[in-house]
Amino acid sequence: VIEPERPSTESNLEAALNVDRIRRDFPILDREVYGRPLVYLDNAASAQKPRQVIQAMNDVMEGCYSNVHRGVHKLSQESTDLYEGARERIAGFINADSADEIVFTRGATEAINLVANGFGQTRLQPGDEIVISWLEHHSNIVPWQLLRDRLGIEIKVVPIDEQGNFLFEDYLQLLGPRTKLVAVTHVSNALGTVTPLPEIISAAHERDVPVLVDGCQAVPHMKVDVQALGADFYAFSGHKLYGPTGIGVLYGRKDLLNSLPPYQGGGEMISSVTFERTTFKQAPHRFEAGTPAIVEAIGLGAAVDYMNALDFEALAAHEQALLTYAENRLSEIEGLTIFGQARNKAAIVSFTLDAAHPHDIGTIVDRAGVAIRAGHHCAQPIMDRYGVAATVRASFGLYNTRAEIDTLTDALHQVKELFG
Ligand code: PLP
Repeated sequence: VIEPERPSTESNLEAALNVDRIRRDFPILDREVYGRPLVYLDNAASAQKPRQVIQAMNDVMEGCYSNVHRGVHKLSQESTDLYEGARERIAGFINADSADEIVFTRGATEAINLVANGFGQTRLQPGDEIVISWLEHHSNIVPWQLLRDRLGIEIKVVPIDEQGNFLFEDYLQLLGPRTKLVAVTHVSNALGTVTPLPEIISAAHERDVPVLVDGCQAVPHMKVDVQALGADFYAFSGHKLYGPTGIGVLYGRKDLLNSLPPYQGGGEMISSVTFERTTFKQAPHRFEAGTPAIVEAIGLGAAVDYMNALDFEALAAHEQALLTYAENRLSEIEGLTIFGQARNKAAIVSFTLDAAHPHDIGTIVDRAGVAIRAGHHCAQPIMDRYGVAATVRASFGLYNTRAEIDTLTDALHQVKELFG
């Protein structure tokens, strides 16, 4: 597997992203924290929202809010059009073949649980195997463990090397006659590793094994084309894509989605109900029981519009340049160790500092206005892999700047002074 080299110098492409203008779209970036300008570097946990998303959500609530799919009245029709319109635009954003392949969920976690539940009910026998990787977030580990404990299936885990690269040869070894699903992340939230997804998917498909991709940390950083990738399922959360919380997406190939049983029962997902028997709608509605997150789905549609208006190549160049700059600046600090130096990496830097515990670091840099994450990042196996309980994580988004990385670096120097 040949992975691209990372760019290291400032390029014209990077400059093509108008970061000043973008920053003006995000009202929260004007606020101060402890009297210092906010430096928000916790984007992998959740990203901030542009005015366009906030406005779209406000507009629905002020202008035409109603329940969807149910009423003949004008407001219901307008809300339904906006809700279904968001689905269409999200399908376009990831190049799904049709909007019917977009299931609205609460987030990536629910999307993965939906697939786990469906596979558990219909496709898995004791002894069958699911292949995941060492890079997974807990939400792509625990649902499979719950199935394992219920059904007696096995979970095989693809290891990573010291730099955090997905070990492809080991992966091939783990694919066997009992493999029923590969469930892998596109980008690791803890290390930033971008997995060699096209090759992972091809190898699985050669063996007729479907692939579920956890795309939570990929969609904010790169153009994702589910058809070009060949992904069978692709899950992500709205709130990491500059959209609202409470909404996420499960993309699924239409035939596969319709072969899965409903996840939850209730209103809106049925064709007919008697006390004896219920029949279900086709996907996506069969998976959307009850009143959905209407306003949030419309907000996610606005987030997708916002992203679509950007030059993705420029965005990637900007974020890659930030990553390189951050790694260089942080490496100046004595006693600082960066975890994860994969060949192909998104703009996430995980590190420890000899002198201080990650939580102390997080608290001190917070006083300088810098929001970062300290902890295991819901990826405890990765922490175990490197023999640490926690790391500090700085994760960058489209509105971050080199000056903000300087502020982080200065704050880390203060931590060193304090802790010696
Ligand atoms: N997968 C990855 C890689 C993540 O980073 C996260 C969130 O941190 C999730 C899944 C779960 O997302 P959510 O909590 O929005 O369902």
